[in-house]
Amino acid sequence: MIKKIAVLTSGGDAPGMNAAIRAVVRSARSYGLEVIGIHEGYKGLVEGGENYEPMTRKSVTDIIARGGTILGSARLPEFPQPEVRERGIQQLKEHNIDALIVIGGDGTYAGAKRLHDHGIRVIGLPGTIDNDIAFTDYTIGFDTCLNTVVESIDKLRDTCGSHQRCAVVEVMGRYCGDIARSAGLATGAEFVVTNTDNNDLQTILEKTKTFKEQNKRHPFIIVTEHLFDVHDLARKIEDYSGYETRATVLGHVQRGGKPSSYDRILASRLGLAAVERLMEGESGVCLGVQSNQIVATPFEEVIGKSKNLFEEYDDYIKLLC
Ligand code: ADP
Repeated sequence: MIKKIAVLTSGGDAPGMNAAIRAVVRSARSYGLEVIGIHEGYKGLVEGGENYEPMTRKSVTDIIARGGTILGSARLPEFPQPEVRERGIQQLKEHNIDALIVIGGDGTYAGAKRLHDHGIRVIGLPGTIDNDIAFTDYTIGFDTCLNTVVESIDKLRDTCGSHQRCAVVEVMGRYCGDIARSAGLATGAEFVVTNTDNNDLQTILEKTKTFKEQNKRHPFIIVTEHLFDVHDLARKIEDYSGYETRATVLGHVQRGGKPSSYDRILASRLGLAAVERLMEGESGVCLGVQSNQIVATPFEEVIGKSKNLFEEYDDYIKLLC
């Protein structure tokens, strides 16, 4: 029987992580469990001490609407080393923690799987703006991020329209095109460059030349991060197509802000489900949402899998631009 659980956030932060922490703490307390909030991800888990904070219902008052994570997130590159993990496992034992909920992305899941392999009961929740976790339609933070990106691109469109400029906008996503494609469709962009499609330089240049021939006033090209130096790409587009071209890197603003209603609801449902499933004896899985149903998938099936849920949006964008 589980009496005491711990929760941590790890990897890149995402809006809605706080709503998930709140749901874990409140549901656990409702079921009579003790809860420890572990600060600073796996780093805090290994270091112990003040990083382990007993949490009450009050500890999570008024956090549902806050971006970031009240528990903090840190990276611990040494966590793959067995002796480092062993220190973490000792800390969990010393604090009498029966089970752990981790909220993060692919790397966080890799760490969680290793803990599970050592006999720690653990469930993962998908907390990342990139939506790059397989076996879930959405990750906590993606919807909020998308809204931020769309709002920013709408603003850029106003100014680019005034000046007849071509805009190249770099968005996050790590190695997943979901942010770029969804933002492209939502903002009426002309072209979207992702890891799987349209990422050949000559294709992009020819496309912009076609837009010029079609007398498009201010074409928008949305590019997933890690593919191009977008400032260099903008110069090349300018030389080739004749459009005055500006690059904008949206950067870390995409990670911040109040979580959207969708993210708060998703985080609340997943946090509650994680506690209930741990109580039922489930472990070694991460939870996600598919067709609005909560699903559990073993870590080993999810880790390292790529996902591009919205590939068909490429066709819509082509037809609608
Ligand atoms: P995310 O969870 O957003 O993908 P990271 O890739 O930075 O973020 O991973 C978060 C943390 O998870 C890392 O700092 C590290 O402590 C741990 N981690 C990542 N990969 C592994 C791995 N292969 N084995 C064990 N722990 C890992």
